Amino acid sequence: MNHIRNFCIIAHIDHGKSTLADRLLEYTKTIQVTEGQMLDDMDLERERGITIKSHAIQMEYTYKGEKYILNLIDTPGHVDFSYEVSRSIAACEGALLVVDATQGVQAQTISNLYMAIDHNLEIIPVINKIDMPSAMPDEVEDEIIDLIGCDREDIIRASGKTGEGVEEILNAVVEKIPHPVGDEKAPLQALIFDSVFNSFRGIIAYFKIVNGSIKSGDHVKFFNTGMEYDADEIGVLKMDMIPRKELKTGDVGYIISGIKNSREVKVGDTITHVATPCDKAIEGFQEVKPMVFAGVYPIDPTDYENLRASLEKLQLNDASLTFMPESSVALGFGFRCGFLGLLHMEIIQERLDREFDMDVITTVPNVSYMCYTKQGEVKEVHNPSGLPDQTMIDHIEEPYIRASIITAADYIGPIMTLCLDKRGELLDQQYVSGNRIELHFMLPLGEIVIDFYDKLKSVSKGYASFDYHIDGFRPSKLAKLDILLNGEPVDALSTLTHQDNAVTFGRRMCEKLKELIPRQQFDIAIQAAIGAKIIARETVKQVRKDVTAKCYGGDVSRKRKLLEKQKRGKKRMKQIGNVEVPQKAFLAVLKLD
Ligand code: GDP
Ligand code: MG
Repeated sequence: MNHIRNFCIIAHIDHGKSTLADRLLEYTKTIQVTEGQMLDDMDLERERGITIKSHAIQMEYTYKGEKYILNLIDTPGHVDFSYEVSRSIAACEGALLVVDATQGVQAQTISNLYMAIDHNLEIIPVINKIDMPSAMPDEVEDEIIDLIGCDREDIIRASGKTGEGVEEILNAVVEKIPHPVGDEKAPLQALIFDSVFNSFRGIIAYFKIVNGSIKSGDHVKFFNTGMEYDADEIGVLKMDMIPRKELKTGDVGYIISGIKNSREVKVGDTITHVATPCDKAIEGFQEVKPMVFAGVYPIDPTDYENLRASLEKLQLNDASLTFMPESSVALGFGFRCGFLGLLHMEIIQERLDREFDMDVITTVPNVSYMCYTKQGEVKEVHNPSGLPDQTMIDHIEEPYIRASIITAADYIGPIMTLCLDKRGELLDQQYVSGNRIELHFMLPLGEIVIDFYDKLKSVSKGYASFDYHIDGFRPSKLAKLDILLNGEPVDALSTLTHQDNAVTFGRRMCEKLKELIPRQQFDIAIQAAIGAKIIARETVKQVRKDVTAKCYGGDVSRKRKLLEKQKRGKKRMKQIGNVEVPQKAFLAVLKLD
């Protein structure tokens, strides 16, 4: 135990966490690189990508003649996965706080840092990318000192590109981070901080032993789910899985126990023995709940079963994805999928397309609402069209977030306007250092899932970082806005919007849909309605749709190409009543300016 160090790297996205982790692995010869190889920008670029799932890797490092085991626990880099970050942090005794020398402290640096401090982690500050010409290490040092109150000498200057500072970082890990503590004789308590799906081995869970020990073959149970398993294989993680007979207090390892369903393994759960169980679970366990929902429909109705199979496969390695069959008058049979957040939704959409070659229509995302009826019932609603009749509703509550935005003073005005426009409430603001300011807002999550990120980026010219945490439900005056095409309500276009904004919002929706719906052989009436009341209307004028006319009957192959193109274009269309509606119309609400 005295020679183990468990640590993680916390950083804002793109500050170089993955790159630096690789340098640590190379330096400790955990992974091999060609002698004297210098990474050029291309190599560095290739490594890019958002670390979505956390992993753990074991290094060996000799310091002052003694051998140490260093377990690096990687954490996901995006706000959607903050619960998983918190469990990874809970498995560590120390953290490298990595800050980009050209960017300084950003929103995620701070939120992850607070999480690490909450868990009493020893913090080792590192300024990365000091090789860059635009690096401002002195200023960034000031920011870090302001933030954590360390000494200037404690801050390590490093580069994931040149490898500078890497040895110093490893030495600091050994010297400064305390070894794990725990009772080796006590009943087993191991914290699950991650799991992955392997098509040959099933679900592999990663854990850190807080107390006790585990042997291969032991009969164990997962405390919160109550499920029992045999530990078919346990071991440690290097570049490969290395099986071990026994793992003890402080060790980080993996367990394979024939689990097929990812939902049985819950991050934050405690592994203990069936025969001699611990009397309580490791604290901090939470069920992660999806907060953002969208309908996913096959364009070709015969793909429905394929879509279900694809979603099931995705769920195998991503337990936070949920889905339920749902049907829409407009779109037919599909699924209502639940995601942790917007990025998570994008990842799933992308994977459906790339890995499963599914052509789907995704509806506008919405959050989950709590609907209180006049009879005193509470109903959780994941789809605006699932709301009870307006006359039955007492009130509706929607999820709120506590958002942190760090930006330069110049952009405070426009950011303030944006957040207030999104029904935000400013909580406080404080200087980070120099002319940079951290703002805190309460905002409805429903406003963030619409087009907040893009707007924030554009009003701040990219100089704003954003992070958030869910902060409970609050009552809101929400109205359901319906869209009708030639008199037929299109359920997939219904949204919940704040009553005060409903009329403007309905008008803009109609205008946008008018742009997005192509002319057809008859007039199309687009209407927005709240209940029975029409609040806006636009018309798409008819056109005679003869695209081949302009070919003058001359060039046959050109004519055929055009027809084919038109056919392919149709694939992303959905027939609603007699109107053909393109996919992008279903996302119209995201495109309102
Ligand atoms: P992460 O999101 O924190 O994991 O960041 P990455 O490790 O993916 O790095 C983000 C970008 O910065 C990538 O394009 C890297 O190639 C680049 N990068 C990382 N570390 C350094 C460094 O020390 N110097 C330079 N010049 N670029 C770096
Ligand atoms: Mg990364």
